Amino acid sequence: MGIKVAKFGGSSLADVEQFKKVGSIVMMDEERRYIVPSAPGKRHSSDHKITDLLYLCQEHAQKGVPFGEVFELISTRYLEIVEGLGLSLDLEPILEDIREKILGGYSAEYTASRGEYLNGIILAEFLGYEFVDPADMIFFTQAGAYDAQATKEAVREALSEVERAVIPGFYGSRPDGGIQTFSRGGSDITGAIIAQGVGADLYENWTDVSGFMMADPRIVNNPKPIKEITYKELRELAYMGANVLHEESVFPVRQAGIPINIKNTNDPEAVGTLIVPNGGDSQGNGMITGVAGKKGFTIISIEKAMMNAELGFGRKLLSIIESHGISFEHMPSGIDNISLVIADNELEGKLEEVLEDINQQLKPDSVDVHSSMALVATVGMGMARTPGISGKLFGALGDENINVRMIAQGSGEMNIIIGVENEDFERAIQTIYFAFVE
Ligand code: ASP
Repeated sequence: MGIKVAKFGGSSLADVEQFKKVGSIVMMDEERRYIVPSAPGKRHSSDHKITDLLYLCQEHAQKGVPFGEVFELISTRYLEIVEGLGLSLDLEPILEDIREKILGGYSAEYTASRGEYLNGIILAEFLGYEFVDPADMIFFTQAGAYDAQATKEAVREALSEVERAVIPGFYGSRPDGGIQTFSRGGSDITGAIIAQGVGADLYENWTDVSGFMMADPRIVNNPKPIKEITYKELRELAYMGANVLHEESVFPVRQAGIPINIKNTNDPEAVGTLIVPNGGDSQGNGMITGVAGKKGFTIISIEKAMMNAELGFGRKLLSIIESHGISFEHMPSGIDNISLVIADNELEGKLEEVLEDINQQLKPDSVDVHSSMALVATVGMGMARTPGISGKLFGALGDENINVRMIAQGSGEMNIIIGVENEDFERAIQTIYFAFVE
């Protein structure tokens, strides 16, 4: 029998009905042996996430403001779930203990972590799985950095004897025993750590969408889902602003070569998106995997005759921006010219001084600044060996009269990045998408 680790997000466990869906999903497949829950999320758009309410209680307690009413909202939500599931679990003393600790000055991290802790206790009882507290096996350093080494071994050991367990997401502990949380949304990271620790065959990430789309649905109407994507492609799309899994949450499973399946709790039959080490939708069929982008860049283009023969020109240019504490995104170059693509927030308030330094130190023939630029990345592992992809892409942009101001291709040949005016951003994404997808 294989091992699957299934992480369920906050919306998947927001109320009794959602818990029941999770229950039947887990029961459907006996390989789903380790379950990682988030805290209950929003039930509708104007609802509150339990985690937010917990932070609020702690802030109030800190200022000496009564937080009883907010805590009551939290307690009611959990008690409703316990009752709705017909469990004979007495949560009251646990809730009371938490309330007292918040009142007694326990940290924001401890307080926030109780959202997952309580949900884990309920889910374990509901599924008939063992409850395993991550405070005993997911470790941080005293300074708060995640300790991968210590954790990996501890998870393996703690779960080796446990056939089926629920492990709350989002937190672990420091050497002093204090609770430490990951960044917001961190239950994804817990799921990946558990999958790595138990050597899972698959890490399932259950949420409220049926996987990733080839383009942002706010820009392209009803985009196609991505069935299979490689870790590398995912990183490219995430970097370009696509709303996908957090880098940190991908790392442990990527390292272990474990695929991730993004699935929809509200539509469990949908295949979702499978994230794999190799392969992907774009393999060998002239397709792309996805297209994503970001607005808000500036391109600084520098011309100087015989630049290619001038020793150290590139280095000097890079030291100038380094000395201003600016990092760059891309640096396309020709024989006598070189451009830097820089995010606007990096350049804020520094552009004049940077240009002054470039003029003084590099004595260029000309320096042009194009502001209000957007970058669009077309991503697809299969591009590397498929002729005609760039022809199709640039042909389509030309037909639509979209001016391409910059072109960069990553050395892995799995993405083509173009720079267009901010105002052409949405049109460029639509044009590229429809050039490849009917
Ligand atoms: N409950 C935490 C949050 O809201 C962690 C998570 O949901 O993954 O950020």
